[in-house]
Amino acid sequence: MKLTDLFKKKQVFSFEVFPPKRTAPIDSIYNTLDELKNFKPDFISVTYGAGGSENFEKTLHVAKTIKDKCKIESLAHLSCIGLNKEDMYKLLSEFRENGIENILALRGDLNPSIKLSKDFRHAVDLVEFIRENGDFDIAGACYPEGHPDAESFEADLKNLKYKVDAGCTHLITQLFYDNEDFYYFRDRCEKAGIDVPIEAGIMPVVNKAQIERTVSLCGARLPSKFLRIMDKYGDKPESMHAAGIAYAVDQIVDLLTQGTDGIHLYTMNRSDVAGRIYNNISPLLM
Ligand code: FAD
Repeated sequence: MKLTDLFKKKQVFSFEVFPPKRTAPIDSIYNTLDELKNFKPDFISVTYGAGGSENFEKTLHVAKTIKDKCKIESLAHLSCIGLNKEDMYKLLSEFRENGIENILALRGDLNPSIKLSKDFRHAVDLVEFIRENGDFDIAGACYPEGHPDAESFEADLKNLKYKVDAGCTHLITQLFYDNEDFYYFRDRCEKAGIDVPIEAGIMPVVNKAQIERTVSLCGARLPSKFLRIMDKYGDKPESMHAAGIAYAVDQIVDLLTQGTDGIHLYTMNRSDVAGRIYNNISPLLM
């Protein structure tokens, strides 16, 4: 099923998982998927580790398992830096042959170990290429606080508009901890003529090390309400776990109330955390 159809019917609830790391066997994710299935997501997305065909095969395998074994729609992430058009064509063919219908088209993070491709500089190049070379539904990433590499918030918004005009039919945001940033962004998208559904990306923070790592990677702003929780409970694991889940639930309730198109939960493969959130919000998901 194409994901676009889902957004016409309801406020979507989705999860993100990552394939097992290099040292773990691929089937180590099956238990997580079995548990996540109980929380009735509309789809599950699977991240893509840039560089090397092994990573592509893992993403493909997990996305196919979600679709064929769990009977849940899947969204396969795919990043383009470092790949040329010929390689990309092969990857798209593999997706198609394995029944994958939805792709999250990404640039990928710049990394000195990845030689940049002349064919794909930005995600918009990948969106155009997918549009021309296959019948996929294409999602794109977006950044309520602006992408860290962007010249400005305005420039980022302009680039996002190109990406949507090139064929993205749905956007998923980077994680954020202040819903006001999301509402401002959503408003600016509307004014800029970006009219596709925007899912809000929520990452529950259940320990102090996790938030320190996350913030250093994506630069998300932490509002004072969140910092006070960290100050009080950061060194008390059980309390931090409970407060982190409550914070995410609070964010989600507000987002659903304000008519957000969907909630995308960055599960970090923690089905226990996803379950506790689901149990709190399930009566709101219609
Ligand atoms: P782009 O849309 O290309 O934007 C990147 C930067 O380039 C922005 O600053 C933008 O303003 C600028 N830009 C865009 N188009 C143009 C243009 N035409 N001219 C000039 N400047 C331009 N990474 C992974 O490696 N694997 C994953 O699985 C993964 N999943 C993700 C899922 C989500 C929901 C999100 C939000 C991010 C994910 N990422 C993943 C991270 C992502 O790859 C990085 O954030 C990356 O730095 C940017 O990717 P993008 O697709 O948003 O790039």
